Amino acid sequence: MAFEGLAERLQHTIDKMKSRGKVTEKDVKEMMREVRLALLEADVNFKVVKKFVNDVKERAVGQEVMKSLTPGQQVIKVVNDELTKLMGGEQSKIAHAQKPPTVVMMVGLQGAGKTTTTAKLANHLRKHHNRQPMMVACDIYRPAAIDQLETLGKELNMPVFSMGDKEKAVNIATKAIEQAKEDHRDYVLIDTAGRLHVDEALMNELVEIKEAVNPDEILLVVDAMTGQDAVNVAESFHESLGITGVVLTKLDGDTRGGAALSVKAVTGTPIKFAGMGEKIDQLEPFHPDRMASRILG
Ligand code: GDP
Repeated sequence: MAFEGLAERLQHTIDKMKSRGKVTEKDVKEMMREVRLALLEADVNFKVVKKFVNDVKERAVGQEVMKSLTPGQQVIKVVNDELTKLMGGEQSKIAHAQKPPTVVMMVGLQGAGKTTTTAKLANHLRKHHNRQPMMVACDIYRPAAIDQLETLGKELNMPVFSMGDKEKAVNIATKAIEQAKEDHRDYVLIDTAGRLHVDEALMNELVEIKEAVNPDEILLVVDAMTGQDAVNVAESFHESLGITGVVLTKLDGDTRGGAALSVKAVTGTPIKFAGMGEKIDQLEPFHPDRMASRILG
C-alpha cells in the first residue's frame, strides 16, 4: 500500500506531539523538521515540501487553541488540513457536459494504465453515475491496446468504437463522437496512444485530437510508482495539452506516495481518481481529506 513508510514515520512524530498540553515554537519546529524529512523520504518534490512546512509553521505557531483539542492535537490538525489542501482540498469531480455526450480524452505514457483506466472509468460512470459510456480505441500504434479495450468492452458489455490501426487517430475520434450521438451514449472515453517518453510526435497527435473533438475533460493517467517522474510527466503533458485532471494508478503498490502529494501542487491540476489494483472495479474517486487522514493515521 502507498504511503506506508511515510505514515509510519509521521505517526511516530505525531504520537509524541499528541499528548502535549503545551506546545512551544521550538516543539513545532522540531516536529516540522521530522515531517520535512519524512516527506522528502517519501519522494515529495522538495519545493512542495518547503512550502508545506512553512505554511504549517505559520499557521501552527501563535494561534488560539480550540477548546476541544489539546495544543498537540491542534498542531496535528493544522498538518492534516494543510496536507488535504496540498492534495487539492475538495474532491474534484469528473466533468459533465450540459449537452451530451461528455467527451473525455485519456492520455499518458505507455504502461501507465491508460487502457485499463479507460475501462475502469466507463464501469464507474455506469455503476455510480448511471451513465451510458462508449469507449474509443485510438491507440493505433500498440495493436494489443485495441484488442485489450475490445476485450474489456465485452467483459463489461460496453460498446467500443474501433476502426483498426490503419485509420488516423483523429479520424477515429471524430467518427466515434458522431456514432455516440446517434446511439445516445452520454460519455465518450477516448483511449489515445502513449509512448515510452514524452515526445513531439505524440503531443502533436494529441493536440490534433483535442482540436477536433473539443473534449470536456483531458485526464492524464500517471503511474504513482514512477515517483518524481510522474510529476515531470504531468508537467509536460499539461504544458502541451492543458490537462484538466489526473488519474494516479498503482496506488496499491508500494509506492512511497510522493507523486500523489506533489502532482496537484506542481501542476495545479486536481487528482480526480486513484487506481487501487488491476481489477475493473479498483478505481476510486480521489479524496484529499481521506488520503491525508490515511497518511496521518
Ligand atoms: P497503457 O499502456 O497505459 O494503456 O497501460 P495498461 O492499461 O495496459 O496497463 C499497464 C499495466 O498496469 C497492466 O498490467 C495493468 O493491469 C496495470 N495497472 C493499471 N492500473 C493499475 C492499478 O491501479 N494498480 C495495479 N496494481 N496495476 C494497474
